[in-house]
Amino acid sequence: MTDEEWWQSARNRALEIVETEGIYCGEVGCVVLNRAHRGGRPVFGIHGASILISEAVALPNVGQVTRHLCGNEACVNPNHLKAGTHAENAGDAVRHGRLVRGIRHPKAIKINKEDEDAIRADTRTQREIAAQYGIAQSTVGQIKRGEGRWTNSGSGGWNGKDDTPLRPRVGGLEDGGW
Ligand SMILES: [Zn+2]
Repeated sequence: MTDEEWWQSARNRALEIVETEGIYCGEVGCVVLNRAHRGGRPVFGIHGASILISEAVALPNVGQVTRHLCGNEACVNPNHLKAGTHAENAGDAVRHGRLVRGIRHPKAIKINKEDEDAIRADTRTQREIAAQYGIAQSTVGQIKRGEGRWTNSGSGGWNGKDDTPLRPRVGGLEDGGW
């Protein structure tokens, strides 16, 4: 199998996964997957390798990266993914405010106060809710129980800070926390 064929078969499998397991969320039609993630992006196994779904869909060439046009790193909607240059990708990140703390916290996924209220009111399973927001199932549980720093948050984002990632302050981060 040539490299080209290898990647085409990987792409076909990735599209199949998106088609069969994808969950639509949000107004812009992002699609998320309830499966293992790497850096906040879902992965799949094929030919003994573990590949990012987004990368298999966008198929960036050497020197290119996968752009998330919607700014949602967890999204695998083929229409939201595109191969591009690092510069273009950086432009995407700035446009979506991902670079605010993105370098220190590349996996940060933000939710705001409205999301938080919606999650509390959501009657679906925590698994489904977690998939929609691209957050951990345990985080959904914490939000529902009113635990974590995002409780009593003001306007503009959880804890009143737009640039603060959703993540409980518990657990050890070597760099001293958030
Ligand atoms: Zn999207």
